[in-house]
Amino acid sequence: MKTVNTISETRDLINSIKIQGKTVGFVPTMGALHDGHITLIREARKENNFIVCSIFVNPIQFNNPNDLKNYPREIEKDIKKLVEAKCDLLFHPSVEEMYPEPDNTIFDFGDLDKVMEGAFRPGHFNGVAVVVKKLFEIVTPHRAYFGMKDYQQLVIIHQLTKDYEIPVEIVPCTTVREKDGLAMSSRNQLLSKSERKIAPIIYETLKLVKVQSGYATISELKDFVHDQFRKHKNMKLEYFEIVDMYTLKSIRTWADSRTAIACIAVYLGNVRLIDNIILFS
Ligand code: AMP
Repeated sequence: MKTVNTISETRDLINSIKIQGKTVGFVPTMGALHDGHITLIREARKENNFIVCSIFVNPIQFNNPNDLKNYPREIEKDIKKLVEAKCDLLFHPSVEEMYPEPDNTIFDFGDLDKVMEGAFRPGHFNGVAVVVKKLFEIVTPHRAYFGMKDYQQLVIIHQLTKDYEIPVEIVPCTTVREKDGLAMSSRNQLLSKSERKIAPIIYETLKLVKVQSGYATISELKDFVHDQFRKHKNMKLEYFEIVDMYTLKSIRTWADSRTAIACIAVYLGNVRLIDNIILFS
């Protein structure tokens, strides 16, 4: 695997690959790689000849300076994992390389970025869109792989490619979980022992929501989830929403939509975790 830090070298390398008629699969990440990321690399391997991973902790998508400061960074370990997963190229730019000048682009995603993560992390999705659009322009992949764990992000990236007619296929990948059900996340390593012990409650609660979604009303389910987290002193529910899978509009009754996904954000101490479960599609 080749590791490249500059945009120009990445462009040259990918041009030479495309001239050979090879297809490029791309997995953008912020590093501290776990099996969720590696699964995206493996999925990309199945469908493309040349695999590019980027590792860039994008400062402009962090609305909380402490979150940016504490975000795990472990490039040497990451490189080993990518070599094992047979990634071909790692693009690992500096902040100066990506933003020689501040990028003030403002995107309009309508209502998609006003709810859930967008409501609680102002500016987050604009920062994500700036970096992903830049990365797509540098890597020019045929296909790009994104995890369902960050479901709202997936929907917004999809919208970004439509709005700007970016010729890339967005491939959604199933959330990879620990044995106890906790969705893998780079932030999990920031949990204390006792926080890690209770973290599986997030997905357990989502599974209970799915079971009850056959007969309970949405407002009953919301009450149920709020009650579940009130029981745990060290957990704070930030939001729980049941939304249409395409518009991300909140559903008030089951008849409102033909698809539904339940999305959640929870604080364990200072660590914020998100997860979701498809109720029907
Ligand atoms: P991140 O490094 O957290 O920005 O994530 C990079 C990509 O990996 C995004 O498309 C995430 O949705 C995806 N990802 C993160 N965690 C998981 C997981 N547990 N399962 C599947 N994909 C994931």
